[in-house]
Amino acid sequence: MTPPPLGLYLHIPFCRQRCDFCAFYLEIHREGRAETFVRSLIHEIGLSAQQHIVPGRSIQSVYIGGGTPTTLATTQLIAILSEIRTHVTFVADCEITVEAHPSTISEPDLAQLLQAGVTRMSVGAESMDDDELARIGRPGAVRETVIAVEQARAAGFTNINLDVMYGLPGQSLEGWQRTLAHCLALGPTHLSCYALTVEEDTRLASNIRRQRSPSPDEGLQIEMDEAAQRMLAEAGYERYEVSNYARPGYACRHNLLYWTNGEYLGLGPSAQSYVNGTRFGNVADLEAYDTSLAAGRLPMEDHTRLSEEEQLRDAVIFGLRLIRGIPTHHLQQHAENYVHAAITAQLLQQQLIEEDGERSRLSSRGLLQADTIAAQLY
Ligand code: SF4
Repeated sequence: MTPPPLGLYLHIPFCRQRCDFCAFYLEIHREGRAETFVRSLIHEIGLSAQQHIVPGRSIQSVYIGGGTPTTLATTQLIAILSEIRTHVTFVADCEITVEAHPSTISEPDLAQLLQAGVTRMSVGAESMDDDELARIGRPGAVRETVIAVEQARAAGFTNINLDVMYGLPGQSLEGWQRTLAHCLALGPTHLSCYALTVEEDTRLASNIRRQRSPSPDEGLQIEMDEAAQRMLAEAGYERYEVSNYARPGYACRHNLLYWTNGEYLGLGPSAQSYVNGTRFGNVADLEAYDTSLAAGRLPMEDHTRLSEEEQLRDAVIFGLRLIRGIPTHHLQQHAENYVHAAITAQLLQQQLIEEDGERSRLSSRGLLQADTIAAQLY
């Protein structure tokens, strides 16, 4: 039996500048480094397809993320996509997303990406307030986000996501609502709303330690999350995952793979994969990545085969992030496998998890504590 279609994730490890809150693996973009990386990535696509994609297994989605993929020249992005096409088969309606920083795209570039088969643009807006952007060390201006969305639409894109964050230093509830209202006025098909989290070893963490920036206020973040739920529901967006909202039919198919225990192959430094029940990851070091591929070796650095119990555990933990939840018998089986019956009973009793016969899902209160509940069920 042919396994179900796979997703492909490509990590482009370059940005023009590092934002204060960002802990992703990346380097500051330099042309020479980028050229070597693109050669390595093209090499990795062929090797990896040979090793990990069984003949006949098609690709349901490609997600080019990072970093900022659009720091690469459009010709480089197109070369990467065409290399993928020479090694694998896409399903007829394959979703192909490219993430972009608003200041790194132009209408002609966007038109070429569309022509090359890209179906979805994901624009990192983060906030629609210039002062808030400055306070998180995010380069760019709100005006650039507005222009980026207008240009994407003018180029022919009909599926556009905006990424925004709440709980930013100095952001009020009203400020967050203004950001949401401004995003809605731009008419995206999808909105990802993330609570600002403070990652270790970021400039933001250091600013907080030195009391140059306030810590995120969890109570206020909950109010902001509730405001997003209200405003986006009223505007016709369906919340389908803890942080993700879409117009009907526009849920991100690639990201759904992560939450439904689907399989994906990650390429590029630091990219993670889950193929044939095995999790593996690439080295998070561009130089080591290039060296490995120049020697004809895949740049993998860890490899874990999951037992059936572990696969079910991951399906439960990730699946509970979805508003539609998971089959109740998966939760019951997982509780038995990991002797979590008491924890599950308590989560049900506290009404953090709700059951309606065949499905179990986090309640509205449970969704606010999704990460804590996942840790309890691990
Ligand atoms: S643009 Fe995105 S990936 Fe790059 S530093 Fe900022 S948050 Fe991180």
